[in-house]
Amino acid sequence: MNEYIQRCEALIQELPHDAVRQNEPIYKHTYTQMGGLADLFITPTTYDDTQRVLKFAHRNNIPVTLLGNGSNVIVKDGGIRGITLCLKHLNNIEITDTQVVAQTGATIIGASREALAESLTGLEFACGIPGTVGGAFYMNAGAYGGQIADVLERVLVLTEEGDFLTLGKDEFEFDYRKSVFSKKQYIALEGTMTLEKGDVVQIKQKMDELTIARETKQPLEYPSCGSVFKRPPGMFAGKLIQESGLQGTRIGGAEVSKKHAGFIVNVDGSTASDYMNLVRHVQEKVNETFGVMLETEVITIGEDLKDPVND
Ligand code: FAD
Repeated sequence: MNEYIQRCEALIQELPHDAVRQNEPIYKHTYTQMGGLADLFITPTTYDDTQRVLKFAHRNNIPVTLLGNGSNVIVKDGGIRGITLCLKHLNNIEITDTQVVAQTGATIIGASREALAESLTGLEFACGIPGTVGGAFYMNAGAYGGQIADVLERVLVLTEEGDFLTLGKDEFEFDYRKSVFSKKQYIALEGTMTLEKGDVVQIKQKMDELTIARETKQPLEYPSCGSVFKRPPGMFAGKLIQESGLQGTRIGGAEVSKKHAGFIVNVDGSTASDYMNLVRHVQEKVNETFGVMLETEVITIGEDLKDPVND
């Protein structure tokens, strides 16, 4: 039996049976459909169970990896050691007046739709971002001029040690695709977003326009993790990649999208290793052509596949 599964036996006994899966194929939980096995994949349904997991992991020195909808991560082919925590079952959304209180396992698309239903404006930008509310907080997700930093008011978190803490507006440290959640090991459980009363027809119209813009420009027919690279200051990563002649370049099953150069798509059973090799190839070529080293927006987690002969 795997070392970490053995060391977590006591925790496994304490959690509901269906909240824990052993040796779970992570490709089932990532947007790119890549990634090896997670030793323990835990999907708690209460804050108390989430706290139990973190306290146990902290006490016993078990690594914890948090996964949202897997739409901005590459999980390596060797999978994830220790505990992979996924909050997808903590997905309630409640709206009171202009405040949207969302558990972080809810989808941000779902939150934007609930806001529309209540004629609230401010989350239209998120109507096509395929992540969870928690992933959106972590990344300060944004699109078409809007971002999470504009609307987030308060967040209930668990610290690495498993203590509850409430963070307010001045503690989020938001920047371009960065936040306090990406700097500290905080696990966001529930966030309050403040929106404004608006006109339901106009809100719907804006969401429809943004959806059409995405469907026209992005290769949504293939698994991907969206824009792979951050925008270099004053430039567009996609344009640099396009002008470096890289569109259509393939390594294994991974391809630089012919539709949107900023996307790398899984066209034919790509492994994480194919994908990362293509990322590095794009970085090298763009650097050679333009002297710009592209920084990845996508986050790489997990371990490389072990070589059965040499390990
Ligand atoms: P994951 O990819 O699962 O995780 C990302 C990081 O967030 C990880 O480090 C994880 O540990 C952390 N995290 C997840 N949940 C929590 C939590 N509860 N507390 C603390 N940390 C947490 N992004 C944009 O910003 N704008 C876009 O327009 C956009 N378009 C996209 C289009 C496509 C087709 C795709 C595939 C992706 C796109 N993305 C976009 C990227 C991605 O959807 C966002 O970054 C999203 O916010 C990631 O959320 P997730 O739940 O999938 O997080």
